[in-house]
Amino acid sequence: QDVYIHKLRNRKIQPRNYTVVLSLDGFRYDYQDIALTPNLDTLSAKGVRAEALIPSFPTLTFANHYTLATGLLPENHGIVANNFVDRKLNMAYRIHDRKSVTDSRFYSGEPIWVTAESQRIRSGVCMWVGCDSEHKGYRPSKWQSYSKSVPYTTRIDSVVQWLSQPYNQRPHLAMCYIEEADEVGHTYGPDSPAIKAAIERTDSIIGYFVKQLNSLSFSDSINLIIVSDHGMAQVDTSHVVRLENYVKEDWLDTLICSPAISFAYCTKNGADLLLNAISNVDGLKAWKRSDIPAKYHISNNIRVGDVLILSESCRSQTFRPNRQLPKGVHGYDADDQLMHGIFYAIGPDFKSGYKVPALYNVDLYELMCSLLCIQPAKTDGSLERIKCVLNQ
Ligand code: AMP
Ligand code: ZN
Ligand code: ZN
Repeated sequence: QDVYIHKLRNRKIQPRNYTVVLSLDGFRYDYQDIALTPNLDTLSAKGVRAEALIPSFPTLTFANHYTLATGLLPENHGIVANNFVDRKLNMAYRIHDRKSVTDSRFYSGEPIWVTAESQRIRSGVCMWVGCDSEHKGYRPSKWQSYSKSVPYTTRIDSVVQWLSQPYNQRPHLAMCYIEEADEVGHTYGPDSPAIKAAIERTDSIIGYFVKQLNSLSFSDSINLIIVSDHGMAQVDTSHVVRLENYVKEDWLDTLICSPAISFAYCTKNGADLLLNAISNVDGLKAWKRSDIPAKYHISNNIRVGDVLILSESCRSQTFRPNRQLPKGVHGYDADDQLMHGIFYAIGPDFKSGYKVPALYNVDLYELMCSLLCIQPAKTDGSLERIKCVLNQ
């Protein structure tokens, strides 16, 4: 027995299972219940389903994918939105500009794939925000940059192919991203018949992924987690606030405007003039950065500009729009239930047939570290709050 304990103490590799994470962009907490989803139904019956996954503010794609990856609030990881300005770097971050999206200077904190790689655990990351920029000298062992044109099944095939490599080369952490529900949600709105079809297509993609994972020889040791970054609200398109009716050009250096939330980077005295002009506009709330209520956890980062303009739920704002307004919007207050996403998990380390109350997306990183038996970096999350999903 002593020899056995000695071996245990000295073993180099811990008996860790595989962690596979799938993000379904914009998949709202209740989508499973409004369409036919046999694959999600099976996952909930055999694994864990949370009532919701509460996103971080602002409830936008980039901010929340990087929160899921790092366990940090957007004000602390720095990706405060999909588009923003950094006046210290004198640079803009824009989701459609690959140069800025891959520039590591914008990213703070430690994404899970870096935590893993730096502890000699391989990772493979397909199209997750931040996966194609270097952090602290590390990158995932395998990664694929975001490319809209790559079919979802091809993305899944890449991940499964990484997992099919010999033991010493295959990743123990694999992550994949799919945007079907978000795109249809924006174009047609979450109350449309089109969203049902998109939910059902997404469910089929999940079915395909599960089938491919089950074909692997070590499928019994795979923990699969399915999350989303935020939900979606149907907007009232007859009540859109047109900021150009209130705002004067010379108050602004830059205005980064999106339907739910805008950041105003003002000229001298511009912030007061802007606030004064929009403070009573129906459908909006606006604050100087230092006055943003603490519950939003965003005022600690100058990238949000001098004035933050937030639409009320189901309302939208524009600034000289050059394209049609979306029918579905997210980005609002994270307390708004319509902004809540999903959490499903199945595998050897998860409870079976178990429903849990809403979880916080800032806790996912700690959960992944626990599954991978790696030491987490400092985060804004808590393993304590999310460990109810684990089977021990
Ligand atoms: P949004 O709904 O505006 O918050 O952003 C969602 C959109 O971002 C998706 O429909 C994708 O087309 C796009 N997207 C997601 N990940 C990336 C990425 N890593 N790089 C560029 N665009 C992305
Ligand atoms: Zn999104
Ligand atoms: Zn979206």
